[in-house]
Amino acid sequence: MRICVFAGSRSGTRSPYLAAARELGQALARRGIGVVYGGGGAGLMGSVADAVLAARGEVIGVMPRGLFAAEAVHRGITRLIEVEGMHQRKALMGELASAFIALPGGMGTFEELFEAISWAQLSIHHKPVGLLDVAGYYRPLLSLVDHAVKEGFVPEAVGELITVEGDPEALVDRLAGRQRPG
Ligand code: AMP
Repeated sequence: MRICVFAGSRSGTRSPYLAAARELGQALARRGIGVVYGGGGAGLMGSVADAVLAARGEVIGVMPRGLFAAEAVHRGITRLIEVEGMHQRKALMGELASAFIALPGGMGTFEELFEAISWAQLSIHHKPVGLLDVAGYYRPLLSLVDHAVKEGFVPEAVGELITVEGDPEALVDRLAGRQRPG
């Protein structure tokens, strides 16, 4: 099994973010679950990769050819796959994994997370989407989703597509038990 991890290319200003990224990497490696991610060495994404590698787990990075320098590619990962562009990157990251996890991050992470959720809504994939809500980072985003449900733009059933946890171990356990066929 592999999980696709979306995470900030920065580490944030508070220490719980980095700690959670490391714990997530350790939790995945301990269960023999591989990581597919954007291939960067910086920020929370780099820390997840480092933690998995330190625990002898598998890390696959998917990165567009032209972005190696700009995105500080991680040279120590198990496998680095070069693709043509950002769309191919996201498509392949999703194909190689059977679930998604988003850690705290910025615009890139939001965009990846919302694509995973909206494609689940459209049944383009049937893979569980986990949100690691470290130190309440995603509370405002979850409030926005609630607001959108109340205002009639998002079906209430969206809640079934997103698994929210503050603790990395608990999130991995819930996702591993929630594999949906197809
Ligand atoms: P952000 O949240 O804006 O920092 O963007 C992080 C997300 O976008 C990651 O999950 C990556 O898939 C992608 N991404 C953004 N910056 C990088 C980078 N420097 N290296 C690799 N992937 C990146």
